[in-house]
Amino acid sequence: MITHADFSKFMTDKLELPNGHSNLLLHSCCAPCSGDIMLRLIESDIKYTIFFYNPNIHPKEEYILRKKENQEFAKKHNIPFIDSDYDVRNWFQGVKGLEYEPERGKRCTNCFDMRFIKTAKYAFHNNFSLISSTLGISRWKDMNQINQSGVQAASQFPGIDYWTFNWRKNKGSENMIKISKKENFYMQEYCGCVYSLRDTNAWRKKNNRSEITIGLKYYSESNKDSSYSE
Ligand code: SF4
Repeated sequence: MITHADFSKFMTDKLELPNGHSNLLLHSCCAPCSGDIMLRLIESDIKYTIFFYNPNIHPKEEYILRKKENQEFAKKHNIPFIDSDYDVRNWFQGVKGLEYEPERGKRCTNCFDMRFIKTAKYAFHNNFSLISSTLGISRWKDMNQINQSGVQAASQFPGIDYWTFNWRKNKGSENMIKISKKENFYMQEYCGCVYSLRDTNAWRKKNNRSEITIGLKYYSESNKDSSYSE
């Protein structure tokens, strides 16, 4: 397990919450994306809670894997973890008609909107004033798209702000991989929904690669493959 002493060796900057906020509700998608962010917040003495709401993840086996790992990492570091709904029906309803949109398209906007509105709503009812998400650390995601969804979701609840911090900055992306290897986190091979699984498998088939096996790959010091979440 990575310790505070390990992490402080490659910690490059101390974070500060914007505009006088003092308590952050951090939407998290998985342990690999949140690892560096969580440790940076801890090293910066920032009070925060993880909010896990990701009904997009399919199948349930993959959802459980991603959630449990994130939950265990939070527990190791004494960070409160809110396990929200797996309301898949609601998710499918929200992306109806967008099944063949490419990644980073309209389906993803709706997917971010749904997750951030739920996060903002929880924040509003539970005395948080600031929310953010770990989703933006992945180089596969469009940070502007994520930030726009986050800001819009927060604006629906009085007194709630969305923190548009660029988590990739100051070696964030690099450290995310180092931490994932140290912790031997589960290596995701697709974004999460059934449509991203379908499209990734189609691409793999075209490139003579085998289909994704859920629960197969883990990061390790020796694993040189690049994961989806990098
Ligand atoms: S590709 Fe990812 S962000 Fe887009 S809809 Fe699917 S799970 Fe959501």
